[in-house]
Amino acid sequence: MLDSETTTTEPHVARNYKPLPVTIATGDGAWVTDVDGKKYLDLLAAYSAVNFGHRNPELVAALTEQLGRVTLTSRAFMSDQLEPFAAALAALAGKDMVLPMNTGAEAVETGIKVARAWGYRVKGIPEGRARIIVAAGNFHGRTTTIISFSDDEEARADFGPYTPGFDAVPYGDADAIAAAITPDTAAVLIEPIQGEGGVIIPPEGYLRRIREICDENNVLFIADEIQSGLGRVGETFACDREGVVPDLYLLGKALGGGILPVSAVVGNADVLGVIRPGEHGSTFGGNPLAAAVGHRVVETLATGHYQERARELGAHLAAALEPLIGQGVTAVRIAGLWAGVDIDLAKGTGREIAEALLERGVLVKDTHGQTIRIAPPLVIRATELDWAVEQLRHVLGA
Ligand code: PLP
Repeated sequence: MLDSETTTTEPHVARNYKPLPVTIATGDGAWVTDVDGKKYLDLLAAYSAVNFGHRNPELVAALTEQLGRVTLTSRAFMSDQLEPFAAALAALAGKDMVLPMNTGAEAVETGIKVARAWGYRVKGIPEGRARIIVAAGNFHGRTTTIISFSDDEEARADFGPYTPGFDAVPYGDADAIAAAITPDTAAVLIEPIQGEGGVIIPPEGYLRRIREICDENNVLFIADEIQSGLGRVGETFACDREGVVPDLYLLGKALGGGILPVSAVVGNADVLGVIRPGEHGSTFGGNPLAAAVGHRVVETLATGHYQERARELGAHLAAALEPLIGQGVTAVRIAGLWAGVDIDLAKGTGREIAEALLERGVLVKDTHGQTIRIAPPLVIRATELDWAVEQLRHVLGA
């Protein structure tokens, strides 16, 4: 029986989310339209999965073309789509090979397994002792192992027992990482910018220092670029902001162009090559449809067009948001076209501001109570950003 106290308009959908009260029917570029025909400017882009715009024509063309050929072979056989996709993605990342999966959480799980196997088989960590250093305030997904090293009680409580083998240190503090390393440390796993944490940008030099620490201690550097990567910050990867190359990139979200779930772990053969046939996989991972779309995404990124847009539009957005500081906004953090805007509690909670913006035709989502994240599709125009900031100004009464 359905719970009578529910007020949801989706009574048959489990309540693991609390969506804003809008029911989207169609999407095009940076805009979506609800079931009543009202248009909204999308400033969330499905948590950066729709970086290239809703129904990006080139990506839809890649999908449609492949739909007319074959959609799923499983990895029991090879398809003519996977190797070209993997080669292009590896080249984009300057690495040797790709392990394809579907969701971001699967890429993270894969990275953890690769790091542990590398720890035992290459580094020589005694069996069962491998440890991975993670950061406080992280968000890497929702699986049982991943929530085991989250410090978000909402994500963790009542889902134990938890997977051991993780050591958390404060985010942004490289010395804390150095201090936490032991001979059993296989990897450091961090987000180069914490997305769900509220677009938390670490101090300049943090990523470079992690690279050095990992090199000095024979420890893998795993960068979770699932939200920060693929154009969002004005570079292909957020690690590029410091000219740093991790041992493993974890990618997802925008890799599927907002069309299909496509994720991947990208690394060199001396690390990713530790995985042997039969040890890891997924029925849908690397399927021809996903590979065709992912390949087109990579080709699009290889032009640098969206990275440049994110840089230019990000500078524009920063200039537009700055005057709101002290006018209902307490802080703005911005990297490329990705902003965390902290709302003064006196003006309402993040959720209330998001609901008020919804009324005015702007879609945003609050995170961690008082923060609103702005991450529009990178196809958005500067004038549309200005209009959205104007709506925010109105909502804040600034
Ligand atoms: N890692 C990061 C940095 C993320 O932001 C997310 C999702 O928000 C994930 C992993 C999990 O991705 P998914 O929801 O596709 O499992």
